[in-house]
Amino acid sequence: EKVQIAEIINDAIQDMFLEIKKKHLSLERNVPGDLPLINGDKGKLTNILTSILDNAIKFTPSGGLITVSAIEEDENVHIIVSDTGIGIKKELMPNLFQRFYQVDASIRRRYGGTGLGLYICKNIVEGHKGNIWIESEEGKGTTVHVTLPK
Ligand code: ATP
Repeated sequence: EKVQIAEIINDAIQDMFLEIKKKHLSLERNVPGDLPLINGDKGKLTNILTSILDNAIKFTPSGGLITVSAIEEDENVHIIVSDTGIGIKKELMPNLFQRFYQVDASIRRRYGGTGLGLYICKNIVEGHKGNIWIESEEGKGTTVHVTLPK
C-alpha cells in the first residue's frame, strides 16, 4: 500500500486534537505537501504517530509546545516529533524500547497508557525497514525521530 506521510500525520493529530486542546498545548506542524509516498500499512503507521504524540502530550506540562515535522532525505522520509516536556533521565534512555519498560507500573499509574508502547512502535517501524530513536534532555524536552524508506 502506498502511503502519504502528510495524511498519516494529519490523521494522528486529528486523533489527539482534543487531548492537545485540553492541556492547552501549542502544536506546530512543518509538513511539506509534496513528500514522496512510502510503502506501508497506513493504519499501523498512524498508530505509531498517535502513540508518539500521546507520549508527547502526556509528558508535557500545560502550555508547552509540540512540533511535528517531516522532511525528505536521500533515501528516507524523516518524521520528527519534539516536545517541551519533562524529558527523560539519561540512565533510562537505553530502556525505552525494551518490552518491560512499557509496563512500568508507577509511570503507568501516574500517566496512564494506550497499550501501544515504544516497543511496539519500534517493531512496526522496523517491519517497514525504518528506524526510530529518541533524544531527550531531562527538564527540557524530548524528540522522537522516525525514518521510513521512500
Ligand atoms: P503507552 O505508550 O502504552 O501509553 P507508556 O507511555 O508508558 O505507555 P512507552 O510509550 O513505551 O510507554 O514509553 C515508555 C516510557 O518512555 C514512558 O513511560 C516514559 O517514561 C518515557 N517517554 C516516552 N515518551 C516520552 C516523552 N515524550 N517525554 C518524556 N518521557 C517519555
